[in-house]
Amino acid sequence: MSRIHLLSPRLANQIAAGEVVERPSSVVKELLENSLDAGATHIEIDIESGGARAIRIRDNGRGIDKEDLALALSRHATSKIESIDDLEAVTSLGFRGEALASIASVARVTLTANTEGQSEGWKVECEGQDMETRLTPAPHPTGCTVEVRDLFFNTPARRKFLRAEKTEFRHLEEVVKRLALSRFDVGFVLRHNQRVIHNLRAATTTQEQERRAMMVCGSAFMENAVHLDLERNGLTLTGWVGLPTFSRSQADLQYFFVNGRVIKDKLVTHAVRQAYRDVLYHGRHPAYILFLELDPSLVDVNVHPTKHEVRFRDGRTVHDFLFSTLHRALAEVRPQDQLDQQASVREIEAGPESLTQQAPMSLQTPSVPMSNYYSSAAPTAGQVSEQLSGYQQLHSGLGALQALDMPPASSFGAHEEQQIPPLGFAVAQLHGIYILAENEQGLVVVDMHAAHERTTYELLKVSYEQQGVVAQPLLVPISIAVSEREASCSDECAELFAQLGFLVARAGPETLLVRQVPSMLRHADTEQLVRDVLSDMLAQGSSDRIRTHINEILSSMACHGSVRANRKLTLPEMNGLLRQMEATERSGQCNHGRPTWTQMSMTELDKLFLRGR
Ligand code: ADP
Ligand code: MG
Repeated sequence: MSRIHLLSPRLANQIAAGEVVERPSSVVKELLENSLDAGATHIEIDIESGGARAIRIRDNGRGIDKEDLALALSRHATSKIESIDDLEAVTSLGFRGEALASIASVARVTLTANTEGQSEGWKVECEGQDMETRLTPAPHPTGCTVEVRDLFFNTPARRKFLRAEKTEFRHLEEVVKRLALSRFDVGFVLRHNQRVIHNLRAATTTQEQERRAMMVCGSAFMENAVHLDLERNGLTLTGWVGLPTFSRSQADLQYFFVNGRVIKDKLVTHAVRQAYRDVLYHGRHPAYILFLELDPSLVDVNVHPTKHEVRFRDGRTVHDFLFSTLHRALAEVRPQDQLDQQASVREIEAGPESLTQQAPMSLQTPSVPMSNYYSSAAPTAGQVSEQLSGYQQLHSGLGALQALDMPPASSFGAHEEQQIPPLGFAVAQLHGIYILAENEQGLVVVDMHAAHERTTYELLKVSYEQQGVVAQPLLVPISIAVSEREASCSDECAELFAQLGFLVARAGPETLLVRQVPSMLRHADTEQLVRDVLSDMLAQGSSDRIRTHINEILSSMACHGSVRANRKLTLPEMNGLLRQMEATERSGQCNHGRPTWTQMSMTELDKLFLRGR
């Protein structure tokens, strides 16, 4: 060991850079955040060779005064906070005052800027171990340009970790996309090796914003998304959530913003996953762009140097709010909403001119409330409890459909007088598997087993709720050995257990006795279930395991009770199913998350036949 000495400014900054400057994309993130903090409304990003050779970001923000230019490059220099109280309510993206210093310590940086009050622009560069700054006059309009060349030229160990140009650019593009989604009011241009990759104009109207989201996330996402805008107790959630049938193999289309800041957070991910649980295909990931707004003093953003993580002061409330709003929104999607969304995307795709044009009459969707379509198809309480009364009855399968009193339907002609319902009228059955129906837009194809399975499942859930839990006392109580901590947790959970039909009593410091279970779960592994609930409660403070278990049983009952393939259906039966789908929550996907129906529009059909319209 040698004597203690101070690190040179450059070395100290290089060490700090380890946390914030990982690769070109991290530089782009920091620079863009600075431009946004400076109030820029237009930002141009020029990249050479994936960012390793050069990154140039030019903005029209406030700019920096000549006197402050040198300071901007030094560590712990910021214009954004002054005291610890400011940190409590910070609304800017940056505040730690170390990004520019870190970047300047591992690359050749020039900062050129001008402000409203200055006659000419100035440029600053820094050099040597002490990072001495050199200031020269340079013409520049109000705003700032930061150029970062030869990233990691003086830190070979870091440079070795850079990947191929394409890979680095992909990461960097992802950063631009995220920030472009967080600020619709700002225009972004991204060029790579002088080629324009994205040109996103500032978007103010909902349609312009939808267009930007589409350019960033693709039209397939937008066609299969639901728009949200909800507020409760000071929490606001807006954005778009993908339909469960538009799931992805990777969690790569998930954007979550808290007060305009991109974040990745376990609590958020968990709440969203839980909202999709009953509707998502096993092992798939949902897609979403969501914006949560709340009082800044309720979030701690100073948890990590990259500020990718946040900490909510009241995590439970945020979790509940996210889960319940998303769960509801996904349940409420009806066929008509999906058709409307697809129509709106096609309108946007048709170009900016047509955005202002009036849609032709025939494209407009009927304004009749949905309830008119299905009032006759809504299941009565009697039908529901009949369905629940036994497994046996479910096997008769079509009971519920036959009970629906639907007018006979064969072709459009017969219905000219009535409004055409979203899923149209059945015209035929294909190979005992699919129902073909004719609607306003063209052809609808329905997987009848999948559709019937979901509608039955939802019916069973509703009826289970309505009837209240039916509990069954156990002849021989089940004794479970637990830890003392678990035993006292079970005391606290007594109410939760009782609500779901369990009677769990403490029979000793480390012994529990289960005296009663919900009849629905009489064949379940009670001991395991009680243990799992207790461990959930201890770890997360909540458990939805019993509910999940009950849903699984209802789902499997629905599956067995639903129409099988190769079962001939009459037209009224088919129409009955279509009307029931329109009336049922989550009917767009079967119990396993597969789609239940699809639309082939006349335009798509015409394309197949090269038929110009
Ligand atoms: P922080 O963003 O945490 O304050 P930075 O090192 O990123 O720290 O930036 C230091 C300071 O430089 C900022 O506080 C701001 O005053 C100024 N600055 C940086 N980039 C810009 C820009 N594009 N326009 C105007 N000012 C800027
Ligand atoms: Mg910054």
